[in-house]
Amino acid sequence: MIVLQDLSQEIIKNTNRRRILNLIRQEKKITKAEIAKRLNLSIPTVTGNIAALEEAGFLKQSGVADSTGGRPPVVIEFLENSYYSVGVDVRLKSTEVMMVNLNYQIITREILPFGLSTSMDRVVKGIDGWIAVNTARLQIDNDRILGIGFSFHGIVDQTGLLIKFTFENQWFDFSEYKKILKWPVFLENEANLAAKAELEIGISSAEAHDIVFLSINQGVGTGIVINDYLYKGSASKAGEFGHMIIYGGGQKCQCGELGCWEAYVSVPAFEKSYFKGATAAAEIFKAYVQGEPAAVSHIQSYIRYLALGIRNILMVLDPHYVIIGGEMSLYAHTFIEELTEHLHDSVRLFNPSKHILRISDLKKDASILGAALLPIEKTFNLNHRIL
Ligand SMILES: [Zn+2]
Repeated sequence: MIVLQDLSQEIIKNTNRRRILNLIRQEKKITKAEIAKRLNLSIPTVTGNIAALEEAGFLKQSGVADSTGGRPPVVIEFLENSYYSVGVDVRLKSTEVMMVNLNYQIITREILPFGLSTSMDRVVKGIDGWIAVNTARLQIDNDRILGIGFSFHGIVDQTGLLIKFTFENQWFDFSEYKKILKWPVFLENEANLAAKAELEIGISSAEAHDIVFLSINQGVGTGIVINDYLYKGSASKAGEFGHMIIYGGGQKCQCGELGCWEAYVSVPAFEKSYFKGATAAAEIFKAYVQGEPAAVSHIQSYIRYLALGIRNILMVLDPHYVIIGGEMSLYAHTFIEELTEHLHDSVRLFNPSKHILRISDLKKDASILGAALLPIEKTFNLNHRIL
């Protein structure tokens, strides 16, 4: 049995092996001859690497392909359930955790009833316990878990170990917590992860190269993709459109400034500004769909605030799509047409396309799927597409 340490250091670091594995993963079933041809490698090179990858459990050799005569070729088959990855979305009051296979299919998931407001220690130990329970239940060996990707609603430093939350002035050091977990750990900002997931498995994977992912939750985060590359800026802080000021001296934001976009369009801002006082978003949208005048007027005003920020984003970045994700994406179908019309009419400098806005197919799952993608990306050396 090859343990994970050997696997990452010996097996996959071999460039040819990684290329072969990637191709098999992409094609699902393929012959050695086809691999050799596509990657411009010799048959003995392909055969040697296939044997090592088979021993590591990534694939099996099975069946026979159609043959044009002579000995029928063996088919190499990718085993999507040979390894797994864990994605974690850490929120203030809860933590969502999900296990996926190598094709990003969800094996199991759960929302744990504690988050940052309890303590990071509780979150990390809770995740460790969750993995132990679920690997035992599903009879998955520990060394079949490639790693854990964490999604944080804050700025994640380039070293990947420092996090800055909007409600705190200090950088939070994750290195001590990393030691608690026995798997490789990766951290990233939630909106960046959502944009990554959209690029890899979502609606924009084939058709758009410049996108802005708008993640509207407790805060508002954006992930910027330029020419298929995630744009993180010089110190990983790019995309904080939630804190661009749309009204000087306006509403107080949790970052301490006045008039940030987030203070008008985040889910709590939307809920708190309702005429009845704090009301759950689901309830307000229910009233909106039923045509209740107060709800209609509340959402029209919300659309105007949303359009203000999106307009600024369009002016700066001119993307193919702005993708609405996060919790607000659950309701966005009720107002996307009106929002698009509003944008189309109000951006006079250039009328944006009527297809500029999209609702994320991955909905609320974009960030957590993006987190689960990190260990897989590392193993397969998939697109490290970061500007
Ligand atoms: Zn702010």
